[in-house]
Amino acid sequence: MIYLDNNATTRVHEEVAAAMAPYLGEEYGNPSTGYPLGKRSREAIDHARQQVAEMIGALPEEIVFTSCGTESDNAAIASALAAQPGRRHLITSSVEHSAIILFAKALAPELEVTELPVSADGLIDPRELAKAIRPETALVTLMWANNETGIIQPVLEAAQIAHEAGVLFHTDAVNAAGKIPIAVNGGNIDMLSLSGHKFHAPKGVGALYLRRGVPYKPLLSGGGQEDGRRAGTEAVPQIVALGKAAELARHRLAENGAEKLAELRDLLEERLLGAIDGIHRNGTAEYRLPNTSHLSIDNVPAGDLLILTAEKGLCISSGSACSTGKREPSRIMQAMGHSDERALSSIRLSVSSMNNSDEINQAADIIISAVEKIRSLRPQNNGPVIVAE
Ligand code: PLP
Repeated sequence: MIYLDNNATTRVHEEVAAAMAPYLGEEYGNPSTGYPLGKRSREAIDHARQQVAEMIGALPEEIVFTSCGTESDNAAIASALAAQPGRRHLITSSVEHSAIILFAKALAPELEVTELPVSADGLIDPRELAKAIRPETALVTLMWANNETGIIQPVLEAAQIAHEAGVLFHTDAVNAAGKIPIAVNGGNIDMLSLSGHKFHAPKGVGALYLRRGVPYKPLLSGGGQEDGRRAGTEAVPQIVALGKAAELARHRLAENGAEKLAELRDLLEERLLGAIDGIHRNGTAEYRLPNTSHLSIDNVPAGDLLILTAEKGLCISSGSACSTGKREPSRIMQAMGHSDERALSSIRLSVSSMNNSDEINQAADIIISAVEKIRSLRPQNNGPVIVAE
């Protein structure tokens, strides 16, 4: 099997699994208890908090552990609204993850949402953000990098614009973390979401960065865990794993990790762009994650391509989602102004530090021959011959 779907999730790093293992075994103490077993769990959490803080240039007390990126995103929005009852307007972009878009939309009509458009390159225009801010704006939330296309938004500039207007700023860094350096210490980012499973920790753990002094109202109430900011007995093994994964990610990035990802991604693109006619890169080539390639291939429905590549043991993704038996074009591609046809022929290839160039070459061979096969079966461009659903 060749796994090139690392924006969907990543394999748990063996050092991460080893770090969490004792907390699935003999170290089962509740961190809120005072005897040594519990105290050791507390110390493990404190250590993980330090490791996560170091990854993003934060202070340990600015990190709140959550269950996932979705919870962090939801909590950031809910808090901004709860802490500022007079403000009922939110600004985001049209390419956010559904953890932002659907949570915000569910609060309508009490909450008014402005979705900033993106260019064909996939980028928001910071001047549009400045124009959209109003006295009643509670929060600007803009993703650091898009999970589908890998496009990196001008987050630091947007955060500065929000702050100059006196508005809180949140960023969903779930798909950026571990792939590019992320630093919050410029002071304009108030909240930032992370999710462990995107950078080699297990699923079911995330974090929310809360800048010191930012007003915060928790999403979950109950016990006083996480300094009253997130109730619920801490998931010690997962938190320990997140800490270790953050430490490994920081070291990887310090040792040219982003450049190494880009080498693999570029090799893959070079092979595909060199061998396939009518293949297009989607979005800006300049501002994008080093691990992500988002491509559309004329006359090759992504659903068909995914079936053939999966048969050869290659794991990749299409931009489209399958709902009620019909393949729907990706809303991200639509937001970038692409036709449904181009959206339905888009694929996402996302590498990690666990891939190597042999796998990349094999993956390229598999994709190239699948494209040839599909095209030979549907020469007139008149709909899929291999039924995707
Ligand atoms: N935000 C982005 C950009 C994502 O890619 C994802 C996961 O796909 C999420 C949020 C949600 O994270 P989780 O799966 O940890 O809830």
